Amino acid sequence: MRYVSTRGRAPDLSFEEAMLTGLARDGGLYVPAEIPVMAKADIAALAGRSYEEVAFRVMRPFIGEAFSDAEFEDIIARAYAGFGHAARAPLVQLAPNHFLLELFHGPTLAFKDFAMQLIGQLFEASLKRSGKRVTIVGATSGDTGSAAMEAFRGLDMVDVFILFPDGRVSDVQRRQMTTVAEANAHALALRGDFDDCQARLKDMFNDHAFRDAVRLAGVNSINWARVLAQVVYYFTAAVSLGAPQRSVSFTVPTGNFGDIFAGYIARAMGLPIEKLVIATNQNDILHRAIARGAYETKGVTPTISPSMDIQVSSNFERVLFDVYDRDGGAVAQLMEELKGQGGFGISQGALERLRGLFASGRCSEEQTLAMIARARAEMGELLCPHSAVGVHVAQAHLGVTPMVTLATAHPAKFPDAVEQASGIRPALPARMADLFDREERVTRVENDLSELQALVRRERVA
Ligand SMILES: *Cc1c(COP(=O)(O)O)cnc(C)c1O
Repeated sequence: MRYVSTRGRAPDLSFEEAMLTGLARDGGLYVPAEIPVMAKADIAALAGRSYEEVAFRVMRPFIGEAFSDAEFEDIIARAYAGFGHAARAPLVQLAPNHFLLELFHGPTLAFKDFAMQLIGQLFEASLKRSGKRVTIVGATSGDTGSAAMEAFRGLDMVDVFILFPDGRVSDVQRRQMTTVAEANAHALALRGDFDDCQARLKDMFNDHAFRDAVRLAGVNSINWARVLAQVVYYFTAAVSLGAPQRSVSFTVPTGNFGDIFAGYIARAMGLPIEKLVIATNQNDILHRAIARGAYETKGVTPTISPSMDIQVSSNFERVLFDVYDRDGGAVAQLMEELKGQGGFGISQGALERLRGLFASGRCSEEQTLAMIARARAEMGELLCPHSAVGVHVAQAHLGVTPMVTLATAHPAKFPDAVEQASGIRPALPARMADLFDREERVTRVENDLSELQALVRRERVA
């Protein structure tokens, strides 16, 4: 399996190379040269199998020669062993034809664990073979950083440094990063906001001498291996509800478009997905793009669903590549317009195809709070604000086809908003009940590139 860049001017790579590279050298994102289709009988044969078995069968064709079957089985087993639920991604029923896919039973209580835990094991296996260590640096507004710290803690071949804006992540999110005890994991509280964290991260990648010296690697949401890991739960959920004989629809709370793009891949592989609904909070660039045909940035408003507070959706480029007939030059031009003018118009043909692929909806702050309260009262479910955005939008798309809304985080990760809406302060699961008693280890850093680089060089294990 080869991977090509969405901008058409970077070399084709293998799975392993694309995973270790992240962003392509022409600024594009890697996508498979073609999507492997699963026969109906092979999809039917997933019924009743464990999450790990489904993961192996769904992801195997994308991996190529990178790992033997036994190695890949072992990688998957390690990745999901730390989850707090035997089903990994259990389904619960909300209403007659509406289901919630609980993606928050991983070690940091958000769906990002599905991808990050797998990528940690993939990196370790790949780097052990080459004998080369890497340094992972990431910037986070909360969920990604804690998932990365958990995934890479204690691995032999990796150091992980996570930059977060000092004082601007929730207590649970901060403690999930600062209470990791392993010597290879470093939580850095930067004096600044999330944009400062991202800017310094970008600076580090752009300093090629530094980048080579510490063998910098990235695991942000554009990494293809992360998207791939998320394809699996679309299969487990749909098969539980009767696929491939019966179609299923999904609604996905969306920020960077990684999670819903995984659903798009699942459908391209042959999973009968009827509707794929983009759910945004009031930062609704994606909803506006589908509704009006113009992709236009307009600044970010902070919301109670902060993991979806985005200005641009980086993974949207991947679907643009397809609806523009895989014309890398056309995509590169759109991205230039985005950079220069803050937006671009989508061509009529591409827009029609997008509307055939996705529905969309938006949920305001008031609607999010009301949905949390109503889900508690009428469905017996305590939703995190992101999941509430999804359930609210899904309700406009219910029909004869079963609807599955993705619950992207545990309510206890966002206790203030949940308590404000429902009057109930959600408790952490028992396995994490001591989070507030664990010792914190954090380095405060200035918003200064050379100070940061010196720290990374000094603190690396090797
Ligand atoms: C990251 C995140 C999202 C958005 O996911 P994307 O893949 O960026 O669309 C939604 N909810 C939660 C809780 C998240 O952490």
